[in-house]
Amino acid sequence: MSHSGKKCVVIHNGSWQTIAGFSNRETPQCVIPSGYIQRDGPNESQIFGTFEMLDEAQKNDPSSNVYTIIDSRGLPYNWEALESQWRYIYEKQLQTDPSELPLIISVPASSSEIDARIVQKYFELAFERLKVPTLQIVVEPLAIALSMSKSSALVIDIGARECKIIPIIDGTVVKSGVMKSKFAGDFLDFQVTELLKDRLPPTESSCQMWYNSQTWIQQFKNTMLQVCDRNLVELQRFHEEQANQPQPADLQQFTANSLTQTKNFLLKTPNRGKQTVSLELKDCLRLPEYLFQPHLANKDFASSDGLCELMSKAIKKAGATVSSLGTPSGGGNGASLTLNEKGAASSASMGGSTNKNTNATANAPNSTNAPASGISPEQVYSILLTNVVITGSTSLLQGMEQRIVNELSIRFPQYKLTTYANQILMDRKIQSWIAMSSMANLPSWELGKWFSASDYEFVKNCAKR
Ligand code: ATP
Repeated sequence: MSHSGKKCVVIHNGSWQTIAGFSNRETPQCVIPSGYIQRDGPNESQIFGTFEMLDEAQKNDPSSNVYTIIDSRGLPYNWEALESQWRYIYEKQLQTDPSELPLIISVPASSSEIDARIVQKYFELAFERLKVPTLQIVVEPLAIALSMSKSSALVIDIGARECKIIPIIDGTVVKSGVMKSKFAGDFLDFQVTELLKDRLPPTESSCQMWYNSQTWIQQFKNTMLQVCDRNLVELQRFHEEQANQPQPADLQQFTANSLTQTKNFLLKTPNRGKQTVSLELKDCLRLPEYLFQPHLANKDFASSDGLCELMSKAIKKAGATVSSLGTPSGGGNGASLTLNEKGAASSASMGGSTNKNTNATANAPNSTNAPASGISPEQVYSILLTNVVITGSTSLLQGMEQRIVNELSIRFPQYKLTTYANQILMDRKIQSWIAMSSMANLPSWELGKWFSASDYEFVKNCAKR
């Protein structure tokens, strides 16, 4: 079954935001929170949509609570709420009937098989409840890489719940190399709240917490936090050593400790009004440093869950697996349902978002695709390091891209390094949706498999036997 050139509905359910629209449009119809507000009592209702939820949360009504739909693995667990959310999207945002257009959805890459139950639940929701004619499930990082014309890439996705590193070789996710940690946007939200707790009114309800993370915390992360271009502990030590050395008076202005510069933020909270928060640069650098060195936040957090270690492990594991098997291990999880395991990836042509990406480093990009068999670990390292794709909204923190480049250069000094990160802020935020939509429009994309209600019946009958 092929739908090339046909208009489809594209829905991406991230753990923080859900993006939906039509494949024949450049931008999505809506970007809404992935959670919802449940109002109990006489006016019982479920509230979806950014503005509707913000209005409700601002009331701080004790009978209203925020609930999530997606679990910490990036998969739905609250299927009734997911159905209500999709109905809201179709009815209010897309203004179309689900039975009219094919649907494309995404699943995250996983280090294990996507649970067959999850796929069955998606089928049940799409075919039985919403009567969608055909459904395609794409693996999110694979769509991002392929839409950028890359059949091999190291996708670094720093989102809300998780930071994920996904090596892809020849259009296949190398599952053993997929690395994840919980040190991402939500963790930073918690750290920001801890940092400013003396200035904040006590946050009691889930609505208040959600409201804060959607409003001033996001602004705070965007304007105040900054990623240090190297290990912050070493930089601080360097400044301390400098301070201890006697300096001629006329040189002191040049050797002043830049980490003590102050930055100001206008904090607006409902109960305490406006107040100016002044922080030294070292505090603004310290929070994002936890993503790289989590043990600095709490000694119980493993340093091996830091971004540097995860990137290094993902590359090395991918190298070892691909070279030992001659082919990426196991194929692409959800990919086993939706995508051929290798091959046709190289036929994917440029997607719509590609021209908006820039090279962060000046090194020549790798244009060759190594064959999956007879490949050495070093060749795998080289392929991955020349195709580092940085995505996820937390990667928009100032200086993130440079730090990733610096850390990879330290760990793999003999390899060329090229990173790709969408420089258009809004496009980076919706990159997964743009990628899914571009892939849907490729006439030659034979990787995706469309499922229909009869496939679902077949799966159900097999399960019964
Ligand atoms: P996940 O990948 O975990 O499923 P998602 O894809 O739904 O999540 P993203 O949009 O990639 O989520 O990331 C959301 C996170 O990025 C939130 O924590 C949000 O506060 C943070 N964020 C959004 N914009 C910025 C910004 N400009 N600077 C820093 N962080 C930001």
